[in-house]
Amino acid sequence: MKDSVKLKARAKINLSIDIKGIFEDGYHDVEMVMQSINLSDYIIIRKAERGFEITSSNSDVPLDKKNIIYKTWELLREKYSIDSGVSIFLEKNIPIAAGMAGGSADSAAMFLGINKLFELGMSEDEMIEESKKLGSDIAFCIKGGTHLATGKGTDLKKLPSLDKNIRVLICKPDIFVSTKRVYKKFDNMYEKDFNPLGKPDNKLLIEGLEEKDNEKIVNGMGNVLEAVTASWCKDIGKIKKTMTRFGSYATMMSGSGPTVFGFFNDYKSIKKCSNVLRKKYRQTYITSTSDKGVEIYGNK
Ligand code: ATP
Repeated sequence: MKDSVKLKARAKINLSIDIKGIFEDGYHDVEMVMQSINLSDYIIIRKAERGFEITSSNSDVPLDKKNIIYKTWELLREKYSIDSGVSIFLEKNIPIAAGMAGGSADSAAMFLGINKLFELGMSEDEMIEESKKLGSDIAFCIKGGTHLATGKGTDLKKLPSLDKNIRVLICKPDIFVSTKRVYKKFDNMYEKDFNPLGKPDNKLLIEGLEEKDNEKIVNGMGNVLEAVTASWCKDIGKIKKTMTRFGSYATMMSGSGPTVFGFFNDYKSIKKCSNVLRKKYRQTYITSTSDKGVEIYGNK
């Protein structure tokens, strides 16, 4: 039996976010299309005699009990009475607190990795059920690809994948945005018949994905949280303008931000745009879409 496992944990972008209301427990009733991308963290989990130890390539990642990797380990250790420990290395490449589900992707990797390493025999559905105790984006990160997420964000419906040849530029302004604060400001604006800026047309977007019709996809995309975050972070508008100027045919903020992404058709323009943006925003990456979320690799 192997005593270590390696995982690739992909980030996500939102092709859309709509908020339909608020549940009694304070969770938002969302309707959003999520898409995995190849920008990934890498995680190595090794069995150890006892305890929990984590090191990371990025000093901004919390290495204490706040880390969702630790929380996932504790949940599984208790549930399955695992009596040994783990030592973990996290190569952090997904921008942190960026609207890209970086923490959720790492948690999804832990579910798959611990399940494999300790032969827990959990099905995907069981992992998803457990993951809801830790956060709502983990379920999507386990499944990956393209999904419509509704309710609290954990009711997932698989959608046809976006064209894999689309070149995706990611750019994260160097400011911290609190997800809670973004939702709070959105809630304060909420009233009956409220028609927020940036409202997506999810029906059109889904039709576009089904028919592989790019125009419908682009016209259906939208994020109701973008105007809120952009009111605090002027860089969002500037990055979108730059991406459009260099030939991006669709640019939007992902999640509650502040990361902006842009879709391009050709490598030359995305490379030029990336070179310009990277001078100001060090977290600028060229990537692509993926039909996978988290994945065990190397030592299957
Ligand atoms: P989402 O798109 O799901 O809202 P996000 O991109 O906004 O996610 P994360 O990168 O998951 O946010 O980080 C949110 C917070 O979680 C950060 O403040 C960070 O300190 C904390 N955190 C805990 N564990 C991790 C982890 N493994 N990777 C990144 N951040 C983590």
